Amino acid sequence: MLPCLSNDQEVPLNSLVIDNCSLPLVTIVSSKAKIQEGGNLTFTCQVTGSPTPSVRWQTEELHSNAFTQIIWGSMLELVLHLTNVSSHDNLHNLTCEAENQAGPGEDMVQLDIEFPVKILFLKDAVQHHHWCFPFAVDGNPEPTFTWLYNNKEIANSNFMYTHFIPDSADGSVKHGCFTLNKPTHMNNGYYTLIVQNKLGRDEATAFGKFMENPFGTLDPKEYCILSPSGPTNKSVMVVTENTESRVFVVSVAVGLALFACTFLLIMVLIINKCGQHSKFGIHRSSVLGTEDDLAVSLRFMNFGTSLPSSDEDTGLSSFVENPQYFCGIIKEKDMCVQHIKRQDIVLKWELGEGAFGKVFLAECANLSPDSDKMLVAIKTLKDANDSTRQDFQREAEMLTMLQHQHIVRFYGVCTDGEPLAMVFEYMRHGDLNRFLRAHGPDARILEESNLPPLGQLTLPQMLHIAAQIASGMVYLASLHFVHRDLATRNCLVGEGLVVKIGDFGMSRDIYSTDYYRVGGRTMLPIRWMPPESIMYRKFTTESDIWSFGVVLWEIFTYGKQPWYQLSNSEAIECITQGRELERPRTCPKEVYLLMQGCWQREPQQRMVIKDIHSRLLTLVKNPPVYLDILG
Ligand code: AMP
Repeated sequence: MLPCLSNDQEVPLNSLVIDNCSLPLVTIVSSKAKIQEGGNLTFTCQVTGSPTPSVRWQTEELHSNAFTQIIWGSMLELVLHLTNVSSHDNLHNLTCEAENQAGPGEDMVQLDIEFPVKILFLKDAVQHHHWCFPFAVDGNPEPTFTWLYNNKEIANSNFMYTHFIPDSADGSVKHGCFTLNKPTHMNNGYYTLIVQNKLGRDEATAFGKFMENPFGTLDPKEYCILSPSGPTNKSVMVVTENTESRVFVVSVAVGLALFACTFLLIMVLIINKCGQHSKFGIHRSSVLGTEDDLAVSLRFMNFGTSLPSSDEDTGLSSFVENPQYFCGIIKEKDMCVQHIKRQDIVLKWELGEGAFGKVFLAECANLSPDSDKMLVAIKTLKDANDSTRQDFQREAEMLTMLQHQHIVRFYGVCTDGEPLAMVFEYMRHGDLNRFLRAHGPDARILEESNLPPLGQLTLPQMLHIAAQIASGMVYLASLHFVHRDLATRNCLVGEGLVVKIGDFGMSRDIYSTDYYRVGGRTMLPIRWMPPESIMYRKFTTESDIWSFGVVLWEIFTYGKQPWYQLSNSEAIECITQGRELERPRTCPKEVYLLMQGCWQREPQQRMVIKDIHSRLLTLVKNPPVYLDILG
């Protein structure tokens, strides 16, 4: 400790008192706590101390106009007038400093200047650790932040959130990032920031491109190579539509000129094409010539309402039509739709496309306690509006309820942000129709032989596939659930030839040639429908049995389209006349008998699914010896 000599005595420096000498004491008194940009403020710096200190305001860094005025009274006062205050001075620490021989003294106040919020910049997304839209915003009072994605508000979540960077040393300017955690090409688009405080509002838009759409920029040929299921069928669809429209134009022209001849010709043609004899000997006297005639007739029979196909023709609608049943089951089993966080999902690539949106392969974390990450299939819902959202919700509730080893497992929904998505177990080999074609005699022609080398399906394998679908159908029938669209395209194939019923009405796009459009948007899988569903729109467990018979036929023809040689109107004609699909070449008598048991015209005479299932199980255990003499 330093000593000092005072009156010839050593005194510690910190206890030394010098007469008439004291440090300056500085106090700032302000006229107002806060002011709006452009207003005036006055601050008085009151100073005491001996000897009299010198005093000054630090105004060098101020943006506002400043002038001072000294007042000599009982104490020294230095008044600072700020006029036309600038928003740049908000949060500035205004300092008054004084000094005398005893030392310095100072006081400080922070300026509180209110001004309308403004966005200083918003930049396109850049990738640091996460993806970030950098921004800087200034405003007082503190603004609220709202983010829009393609003009729709984004709810803050762990997946997308506003992150502020502290200590930016930039006055009141807020720097930060709108952060996206693992976005994919589905999040590409325009992001708009809207800021607002009581004095104003500002907005700016930036673009985020996180990932190339894996298929978006490819031409259809490349697309085919990458995704054999979708495009192959898509190109088939285009060709078919063109052919059909040409046929339509030609037939209208011919029809106008030679109506009577055409009428007779079509009659003869259909009778020949159907091949089999009518079981019921019914020969209708009218023939529906063109697709449009048919649409009109079907509409007359109440087919062609404008309800969306998802609601019209799917199992979902059976619940909608029987809401008490639907609620009953949900309550009984007390099940809730599980919500999966978007941040737990990492998309890998596109698997296909359904009517509601794209289907992606993805990795999902935290789904099961035994594994860290799992492969899942994500079905997205494109362009969700109130009505499709409702469908989505109902379908999710329904899927939550359906739990069986031969129904594809539904894990839950992802609704934090867009697009809405459903999460299913991933079935490695995709849909059964594609699988059958890829493992049939025409696999090479269809160029689907890049699938695992399983070779051509054997009879026991076909029976095994059929028995599994029957098992799923036994379960659905036990719930009185009517599927309405049972077909191989709606079944999925997993590892080890596990087959599950995998779709309850969301797949109308890829296989659109399997559906017949009546009226506006209604799509009917007429080739799988029994006469009473075609004519009276009656869908029951028994009509599902009919479709199951058609599924058996598809399996034993390696995925051929039922009545492939006929147009939609001709197929309707054949089915309603009671003609049957022919016995496939590789189909044993026992199996064809099952098919015929499913195709009884009278719904009550059809076999019940339990019996079909147990007969198939017996056949799986003892496959009939079958010689394909023609093959
Ligand atoms: P969907 O919308 O159900 O018709 O699906 C369209 C396509 O995506 C199907 O034809 C399948 O090839 C594929 N897909 C759908 N769900 C799955 C799944 N769970 N696992 C594997 N592929 C699937």
